Amino acid sequence: MDNFIVSARKYRPATFNTVVGQAHITNTLKNAIKTGHLAQAFLFCGPRGVGKTTCARILAKTINCSDRTETTEACDKCESCISFNSGASHNVFELDAASNNSVDDIRALIEQVRYAPQLGDYKIYVIDEVHMLSQAAFNAFLKTLEEPPKHAIFILATTEKHKIIPTILSRCQIFDFNRIQIDDIAQHLAFIAKNENITAETDALHIIAQKADGALRDACSIFDQIVSFAGSTVTYKAVIENLNILDYDYYFQVTDAILGENIPTALLVFNEILNNGFDGHNFIAGLGDHFRNLLVSKDAVTLQLLEVGANIKDKYKEQAAKCTLLFLVRGLTILNKTDIQYKSSKNQRLQVELALMQLCSINSIGTDTEKKNDIIKPKQANQEVETLKKGTLTPSNYSKNDNPDIHLAQEPKINPKQDSVKTETSVISSSNPQSIKKSLIKTASPSINQHLSVKKEDMSTNNKNKEEEANDASQLSSVFSQKDLDIYWNKYATDLKAKGKISYGVALLDKQPILKDNCIIEFMINSKTLEETINEDKLNLLGYLRKELSNFNIKLQLQMIATEEKTTLYTANDRFKRLSEKNPNINKFRQAFDLDIEF
Ligand SMILES: [Zn+2]
Repeated sequence: MDNFIVSARKYRPATFNTVVGQAHITNTLKNAIKTGHLAQAFLFCGPRGVGKTTCARILAKTINCSDRTETTEACDKCESCISFNSGASHNVFELDAASNNSVDDIRALIEQVRYAPQLGDYKIYVIDEVHMLSQAAFNAFLKTLEEPPKHAIFILATTEKHKIIPTILSRCQIFDFNRIQIDDIAQHLAFIAKNENITAETDALHIIAQKADGALRDACSIFDQIVSFAGSTVTYKAVIENLNILDYDYYFQVTDAILGENIPTALLVFNEILNNGFDGHNFIAGLGDHFRNLLVSKDAVTLQLLEVGANIKDKYKEQAAKCTLLFLVRGLTILNKTDIQYKSSKNQRLQVELALMQLCSINSIGTDTEKKNDIIKPKQANQEVETLKKGTLTPSNYSKNDNPDIHLAQEPKINPKQDSVKTETSVISSSNPQSIKKSLIKTASPSINQHLSVKKEDMSTNNKNKEEEANDASQLSSVFSQKDLDIYWNKYATDLKAKGKISYGVALLDKQPILKDNCIIEFMINSKTLEETINEDKLNLLGYLRKELSNFNIKLQLQMIATEEKTTLYTANDRFKRLSEKNPNINKFRQAFDLDIEF
């Protein structure tokens, strides 16, 4: 290791083609060089370590090359390329604005810009972390940026694009660099390992790539660190030990215990994790990631979202096959809750253990429809229907409920005779929790109605119509209060005012709507004009209320106030009389202060 060069430098890409994960940028730059339409100022934005400076250097080398290849890459043979590769080129200037951000630094740079290059056609000025320049420096620079000499190209690089003032932004061609994909980083590391005669396990490289969080330079540094620790063989085990990462294996073990409803094993594994010096919060977050990975492994379409090495991918697929979608969704809900509550909990260990116990009990709460069929007797089901009739549990209550635990657990119980296979497949085929809800509601609600129709013989035609309506899963009928109504009614009216329909909005705010039985909303109006306006807008208004209150049975009833005599109030006295009728306090107020009426 005598002349050890860090991998990030040694394997810094030297051609556009070898830049990792930024094809959209290198292709554009190559095209611009080819067609001769190169801008004079570029802004490279993106997180650190993703190749901004590297691209700037490659651009500088390529445009000065006298003998570019057909694929618009530098030849590496001409005089310019050779001086560039040996680091002797005077055509690239790099200024780190983080440490040289004064006006004088920029003036020194501007001074240099005037001189044409000795070799090649262009001089490239790279200003790194350009957002750090002082205001004065920015101003001094602006003029040069506006009218640069022909041979000058500016490349401004920044990690914080939002801090760049618009006058600079508008003068630059902007390139946004991506975070580099984990797979791309892992491949690059594999390439380095191969060249350095290091044997590295793919899973190990994936872990390094994950830890680097999209930055190739960081990944290279971690890789060097591991190599100096582990020598010429980089194993998964060495990486997780060195980076203090909790082994995937623990998550698989815990999940197996959870699936087997084996609380003791789950607790023991957690204990072992704590003994190894890991923190409970990390464990919960990691287990959440694990469940998420299992969820995406269930479907070939989402499998690409799994960013792990090939071996681990197979393990995920295997374990995912053992979990139902419902189990995973519920598990994620529990883990998410624990994650949120962890920090505020006094007994954090217990918090995690409680979560594990809950996870182990998911299946026994009842996920499996077939299981349900055995447990729930028809009598019980009838009782549930009775409660449904009382209105405590309407199908729509499920959809409004924030806690999937409750509605997911109850819905399958409703009709024990329900075709269990059908329910199961509809659940599994949909990977989206929202659609799970929907499919469950769809299968559940007709059965409720069946029970209701059998029990109730005296059902009026009106009710039958309602039943038909309720068959549609979209026909929600949540219970809401006068207060809820007031909130959304006022919101609608305020929005109208904001949209310029001021008098309409004011008219709606003038009186509060009254919630009557059967979701009828009564609204008092005092003029034909208002009645017409509301009727014209009825679809919008009703649509809004039905949606916001999750109740599609809402109806609007306009009630004309028994028209008071429409006398025009001419005199001040008349107007005062009318006002004090509306609010007697005004009169008291007048008397108390002995006021005259004079408008
Ligand atoms: Zn060349």
